[in-house]
Amino acid sequence: MFKKILYPTDFSEYAHAAIPYIKLMKRAGTKELIILHVIDIRQSTIIDTTAFGETFVYPYDISDILKKEAETQMHKLIKQFSKLFKVTPLIVEGIPFKEIIQTTREYNVSCIVMGSHGKSNIEEMLLGSVTEKVVRKSPIPCLVIKRA
Ligand code: ATP
Ligand code: MN
Repeated sequence: MFKKILYPTDFSEYAHAAIPYIKLMKRAGTKELIILHVIDIRQSTIIDTTAFGETFVYPYDISDILKKEAETQMHKLIKQFSKLFKVTPLIVEGIPFKEIIQTTREYNVSCIVMGSHGKSNIEEMLLGSVTEKVVRKSPIPCLVIKRA
């Protein structure tokens, strides 16, 4: 049931909370780990509107910067897991929950392990919006690691 797991991460401390549990899943028979980071296409453009009292509006694409940052973070994670599992790192652009669901199908994943919250970590929310959508739509079991 846990042979191949998918760990989607936004590299926040709440996503990192899943790491010790994933390591323990070795004992439950996990052999392969797919680590997925989605660069949210809705956040990869910045619109700048300030300078000298004038308003300038020029959108610019920061997806290259986000990709570099993601690669650095991804390397740290690969190091942590490579002794335990066969690791497949994925950095893709898109809408996070859609890419997560798509990856479970494409890679024939047996279980998703993710944080209950992420970068926004809104106090009143029981679950972040990505986790809520994934749990709702996932065709396979999801292990949600709650924030402390
Ligand atoms: P929201 O984004 O709804 O404002 P949030 O940031 O607190 O709230 P989520 O984004 O739902 O919460 O994050 C919950 C979990 O979803 C994370 O711990 C991580 O496992 C996964 N996740 C969130 N964003 C991404 C992403 N861009 N790529 C991969 N996994 C993600
Ligand atoms: Mn988020």
